[in-house]
Amino acid sequence: MQLLLGFLLALLIALLAYKVRSLDKSGAIAATLEGTLIFGLGGWQWAILLLAFFISSSALSKMFKTRKKDLKEKFDKGSQRDAMQVLGNGGLAAFFALLHFFFPSALWTWLGFSAALAAVNADTWATELGVLNPSQPRMITNLKKKVEKGTSGGISITGTLASLAGSALIGILAGIFTPAGDALSIFIIVTLAGLLGALFDSLLGATVQAIYYCPVCEKETERHPEHLCGAETRYFRGWKWLTNDLVNFACAGFGVLVALIF
Ligand SMILES: [Zn+2]
Repeated sequence: MQLLLGFLLALLIALLAYKVRSLDKSGAIAATLEGTLIFGLGGWQWAILLLAFFISSSALSKMFKTRKKDLKEKFDKGSQRDAMQVLGNGGLAAFFALLHFFFPSALWTWLGFSAALAAVNADTWATELGVLNPSQPRMITNLKKKVEKGTSGGISITGTLASLAGSALIGILAGIFTPAGDALSIFIIVTLAGLLGALFDSLLGATVQAIYYCPVCEKETERHPEHLCGAETRYFRGWKWLTNDLVNFACAGFGVLVALIF
């Protein structure tokens, strides 16, 4: 019964998101699947955390759409998320909802779920709000090196603070709605895990993530095979198989690792 209710709620939200163009068709299907697992197997506490991530990150993407226009070509995809993005962002969280079904009294499933969401929320907030930083970002692997806004692996004060805030939002909710344990410790662990997950994301972006180059715009981009301008992008650096969606998944995974070690 709860699973059916979860499915209906997830479907409703995915359809709304599709309608306001936060998700494309494949993204809406993937979000329905993830939402069904999380709402249906986790319950309303789990649903609140997922919605906090989903609503805040979609709203931020919309809000800064115009401001980021010239940066948009740098990012792999626009604000309309597809299935791979949805799975990269929420797949691990949904997996912990599934684990919760098999280990209903375990606290670590809640911690893993919260940390996975905190990490992707931190990363999304940093990406969306980091562009507001007044000066150029610097490379996480070499803080003396200034890079263009939107460059993978670039970090800034504004972006890092946004990352902390995005992580703390999920951390606070994780503490409030935790099924067991001490709320303050849960808040601290989840927030820290999310922040470190997002930094890990930047580290991958600076080192091994697949990055391409558009010969027409003369810019680095995560887009492949085609740039927004239509030109074919050339391989520039990183491991070719390590796409942006996989990097987001790894960001969530690193957050989970940090939380579970604590
Ligand atoms: Zn181009």
